[in-house]
Amino acid sequence: QAKASGKDKTVFFNAGIGGQLSRKMELEKDLRLAFEYGQFFIVYQPKWNARSGEEAGFEALLRWRHPEKGIVSPGEFIPIAEETGLIVPMTRWMLGEVCRQNKSWHDEGLFRVCISVNMSYRVFESMTLFDMVDEALRSSGLPGKMLELEITESIAMKNMAITLSQLQRVRDLGVQVSMDDFGTGHSSLGRLDEIPVDTLKIDQSFVKSSNLASKQALIVGIIGIARLLDLEVVAEGVETEEQAEFLLSRGCVLMQGYYYGRPMPPKEVEAGKWRIGAATGGTAEME
Ligand code: C2E
Ligand code: MG
Ligand code: MG
Ligand code: MG
Repeated sequence: QAKASGKDKTVFFNAGIGGQLSRKMELEKDLRLAFEYGQFFIVYQPKWNARSGEEAGFEALLRWRHPEKGIVSPGEFIPIAEETGLIVPMTRWMLGEVCRQNKSWHDEGLFRVCISVNMSYRVFESMTLFDMVDEALRSSGLPGKMLELEITESIAMKNMAITLSQLQRVRDLGVQVSMDDFGTGHSSLGRLDEIPVDTLKIDQSFVKSSNLASKQALIVGIIGIARLLDLEVVAEGVETEEQAEFLLSRGCVLMQGYYYGRPMPPKEVEAGKWRIGAATGGTAEME
């Protein structure tokens, strides 16, 4: 018996490794067509102002509806898109869609907020950032200040001179810039003051363990840095009332996380369902 199950395990293990490799290769192959076939769609996650009790913006997140595999998470396909270079046309498409969507929400009087789009180092490498942002703003008619780009510390530190000059050019269009996952990347703390950003986003990992005194100290530190550098600060991955209360008590007013709302398609954003959960402090509505 024991021998048989040991053997089974070995077989299973090998199949697992093989399966993973071929899944990646399949996804890589399918990714090229996915873009042409319109299998990508965008979900929007609210950023909430916990002091005023209203939405402060949205983050646009990419989703892939694979015909056989179902929804593939960006954690899986973004690295492939980066390796293959497809991330550049995908980001161009994303910027166009997000600006068009925000302009129509704005014109309908639904929201007057900024929507953010995540950036890849590949976009900076390709030197096309300004052109794609300019094109998206022009064709939609959206004011630059209603678009935000989320970069990471690693992007900022990679070829800093080139990255900073591209960021400066889009900022001249009024576009906002935020530093995503702050505190987890290759630290740019020593040069944070040189990077043209408007907002720091406290990484979810800090928020997740914000019951620990040591992590609380780091969160308070990040909020302090933001204040001293005159930057906005947003907490990401807020899942519980305790986390929200702690952050608010330390002066972090802008929140993003499942407690306030999951990423959702435009129709649900328009229905404003997440507001009910946020106002009553319950997550039941959103599960
Ligand atoms: P990110 O930019 O840090 O986005 C936040 C991620 O945390 C999202 O995962 C979001 O769904 C998730 N999240 C939000 N609130 C909570 C919460 O309360 N609890 C937990 N556990 N998770 C929460 P998602 O959508 O799977 O995206 C993962 C990452 O993929 C993003 O991290 C971003 O780096 C990347 N990504 C997504 N869309 C794009 C895109 O269009 N372009 C690029 N370059 N990267 C993207
Ligand atoms: Mg982000
Ligand atoms: Mg983030
Ligand atoms: Mg993150």
